[in-house]
Amino acid sequence: MKLCFETVIILLIAIAPCWASTLERRLHELYDAAVFQEYQRNLDFSRVLWGTETKVRGATDNSIVINYKAREFPTQLIDLDVKALIYCHELGHLLGEGKREKLYLPFRFFGGKRFSSIMIANEGEADFFVGQCLHDYFSYDSEKKHLRKIEKQKLFLTTQEFEFIERSCLTEGDELICQRSLLAVKSFARLAAHFEKRDSAPLLYETSPNAAKDIYVFHSDALCRMETLVRSVLGGGRPSCWYNPQNK
Ligand SMILES: [Zn+2]
Repeated sequence: MKLCFETVIILLIAIAPCWASTLERRLHELYDAAVFQEYQRNLDFSRVLWGTETKVRGATDNSIVINYKAREFPTQLIDLDVKALIYCHELGHLLGEGKREKLYLPFRFFGGKRFSSIMIANEGEADFFVGQCLHDYFSYDSEKKHLRKIEKQKLFLTTQEFEFIERSCLTEGDELICQRSLLAVKSFARLAAHFEKRDSAPLLYETSPNAAKDIYVFHSDALCRMETLVRSVLGGGRPSCWYNPQNK
């Protein structure tokens, strides 16, 4: 009996990393080389229970760790595709375009805390990277069972949003991937609205009325972020709610 119990434990330990981290493993396979080329550090993922933000965080001087802060997200608003979107945003800080900002990363050194710095893309650029990243990830995710039909998600969408997704993705190379990406964007908009304590999430086809002064480098509001994400999926330009270099 004891042997059997131990075998089960060993088996659980053996399968746990594969079972729990398919998403992380795939993103690692897709982007580790690009991150190494840019930062001479390997890409790593970790899940931590406490904290306020999912972020890029250096655990050692040899790797860049993306921490996923599981506790902060209400489970009813999180599915695997939103989680992929959040990871893609963090990867966007590392691989996105635009002027880089300095970020200080804590890492352990002989039991103490030290800081190292890397240059990362701003929040808007990180969001703007998401469309490409989701496309890479969903293309790589060849198990067709994961490609959900849009009809199943209808409950969270208004009729106009449903038609917007169908119409917008019609001319995209891979219609299903485009639809799946916009559904993830909608789920993220619901999450962002939740954190802003808004009664309802912005609608997918809504655009922000705000015009930034120059380039805003911090998190924009839910509507501006959603517009950025939609444009990144559909191959549009950066929205002027955070990117407006003409308006200095
Ligand atoms: Zn960010």
